[in-house]
Amino acid sequence: MRLDIISIFPEYFTPLDVSLIGKARERGTLDVRLHQLRDWAHDVHKTVDDTPYGGGPGMVMKPEVWGEAIDAVTEGGTPRMIVPTPSGRPFDQELAQELAGEPWLLFACGRYEGIDSRVMQEYATRMRVDEVSIGDYVLAGGEVAVLVMVEAIGRLLPGVLGNAQSAVDDSFAPGSMRNLVEGPVYTKPPVWRGHEVPAVLLSGHHGNVARWRRDEAIRRTVRNRPELAAALDPATLDKHDRKL
Ligand code: SAM
Repeated sequence: MRLDIISIFPEYFTPLDVSLIGKARERGTLDVRLHQLRDWAHDVHKTVDDTPYGGGPGMVMKPEVWGEAIDAVTEGGTPRMIVPTPSGRPFDQELAQELAGEPWLLFACGRYEGIDSRVMQEYATRMRVDEVSIGDYVLAGGEVAVLVMVEAIGRLLPGVLGNAQSAVDDSFAPGSMRNLVEGPVYTKPPVWRGHEVPAVLLSGHHGNVARWRRDEAIRRTVRNRPELAAALDPATLDKHDRKL
């Protein structure tokens, strides 16, 4: 998968050199290309922003600079463009799965009050453009949002996780974990500071362990994410689930 990221702070992306994503880049599963937006600004100060039409505080990113940058980066091809913004559609595991199936993604990181809206309007005539939010809060820029999305998407690419089954059992995974969060997890020793690992996990009985894990996932979802629990499809619940 090819990922192009345009930003005025490409140095924000050094975490992509390490861990799972760093290894995926080394292996060539992920081809990440970082671009400094200011390279397409022509004045002596490399200006990328200007005052907003209609007045008000803050600055807006200029369409001409973004236009030149995106034209250059996408020359000869058509990626799917992702624009992080608090006003976008929510980023979730389903969207991460969908984006993991794309061959080429272009991320446009906004700063200040965001990017002039005509940039998204213009490129939507040439490629798929999604404005995406990572949550109901406001960050200073799109870089951290892109890091979040790249990590969530990257770990779903074939061969990136050591054990592909992990992604299937994860919170929110399509299938039996849709609209569920994972229950608690434990490792050795069996007793730590007086706290015991639930006996069922030491029983070696796979059926009982699977049942316990599902029960715990449902209990935790009801407790921490009632809105997800309310959205559970009754058709996916068995008799035991409904009792919880
Ligand atoms: N004025 C904008 C608003 O109220 O929607 C907020 C702009 S924010 C200060 C600057 C940039 O940070 C945005 O253009 C976007 O790229 C990024 N950003 C901030 N919060 C975000 C979020 N929750 N999800 C995705 N991107 C976000």
